[in-house]
Amino acid sequence: MSPNPSLKTTELERFLRYVTYDTQSDENSTTYPSTAKQIVLLDRLVEELQAIGLKDAVRDEHGYVFATVPATTKKANVPVVGFIAHVDTSPEADGANVKPVIHRDWQGEDIVLPDDPTAVLRLRDNPMLLRQKGNDIITASGKTLLGADNKAGVAEVVAAAEYLMQHPEIAHGAIRVGFTPDEEVGGGTKYFDVKKFGAFCAYTVDGEELGEVEMETFSADSMTVTFEGFNTHPGFAKGKMINSIRIAADFVSRLPRERLSPETTDKREGFVHPYVVDAAVEKTSVKFLIRDFATAELKTKEDFLEKIAKETVAAWPGASVTCKVDESYRNMKEVLDNYPQVVENAREAVRRSGLQLHEAAIRGGTDGSRLSFMGLPTPNIFAGEHNFHSRLEWISVQDMAKAVEVIVKIAQVWEERA
Ligand SMILES: [Zn+2]
Repeated sequence: MSPNPSLKTTELERFLRYVTYDTQSDENSTTYPSTAKQIVLLDRLVEELQAIGLKDAVRDEHGYVFATVPATTKKANVPVVGFIAHVDTSPEADGANVKPVIHRDWQGEDIVLPDDPTAVLRLRDNPMLLRQKGNDIITASGKTLLGADNKAGVAEVVAAAEYLMQHPEIAHGAIRVGFTPDEEVGGGTKYFDVKKFGAFCAYTVDGEELGEVEMETFSADSMTVTFEGFNTHPGFAKGKMINSIRIAADFVSRLPRERLSPETTDKREGFVHPYVVDAAVEKTSVKFLIRDFATAELKTKEDFLEKIAKETVAAWPGASVTCKVDESYRNMKEVLDNYPQVVENAREAVRRSGLQLHEAAIRGGTDGSRLSFMGLPTPNIFAGEHNFHSRLEWISVQDMAKAVEVIVKIAQVWEERA
């Protein structure tokens, strides 16, 4: 039985196939894409796109796959709209030999993953499952992640493109399809050629809950605070050695404990997050992630850290400190506010699909945040993915079908309103 009889689409069989490709990216790699195995799936996608009639489907030397669903509209002024998904999976969990399992007509019981009895998906821990009673839940088998992030999005975009190709009576402008590598290691847009993609705007299909449209991300910097001390032979160090590890520990202990950290904030609060320490007696650096929805607040947080760092070294005569800030990405709302129709048309498509609209600010970044600042306004819409980067990742067959429907409707809304 099709959960969505209005659309006969192929996202499920595509998804089950794509997850069997190991496409894990690698943050320590110096190549692009970070792992060659991503190219295997990207090339496969070129073949599949050509097979459904997207004749110009091509992969470039960096790995990006672009293709076009030709326009069917008679109007001349319909903007080109893009849909983007990433093929790589997170280095945080094993992505080889993924065995997807479909739990049909789920009724609320615990789902014990077959290859690891300790891996249990429970309603209690996953309130978003509540809405899924009677649906078909897909999980991995317990040893690996599932890869719904973002192969669900990839499958949904291909299925929507196929559906549009099979239904030329649906009026829409040219639709661009883009599949990217290395999103999980922060490189998804590194060589993305916005000009060649040639769309007025795009949507990443990489969100979580049914009906979600996301136009806001964190603004993000990284900050490195480096303490320099003085090293000598420890046997003869009295009065000479200045141990920068102790200074860095003193510094970290001065950070507020009840606020301003990932573990004490949620919703619209930002944070500073020490996440890596490179330590030796002579020199120790503490790396921070700095996050806030308001870009100006990043500077406030960085100044605050610098002040604490200076207070710390003042207590350690002979030591010094330097602070370095690097920009990571910016809240895409700053761009999207200039193109209100981009988000509004997605909202309309969600409503027309009979779904309740969910709009939340993403406590992270998306490729869309970078693309928006590169000249391609790109909010994020739901793909149905849950428990990202985890062995307990899950998605429902029914939500995937709805995502395909929303993609098709976005194409239609743009045409109607042009
Ligand atoms: Zn993702």
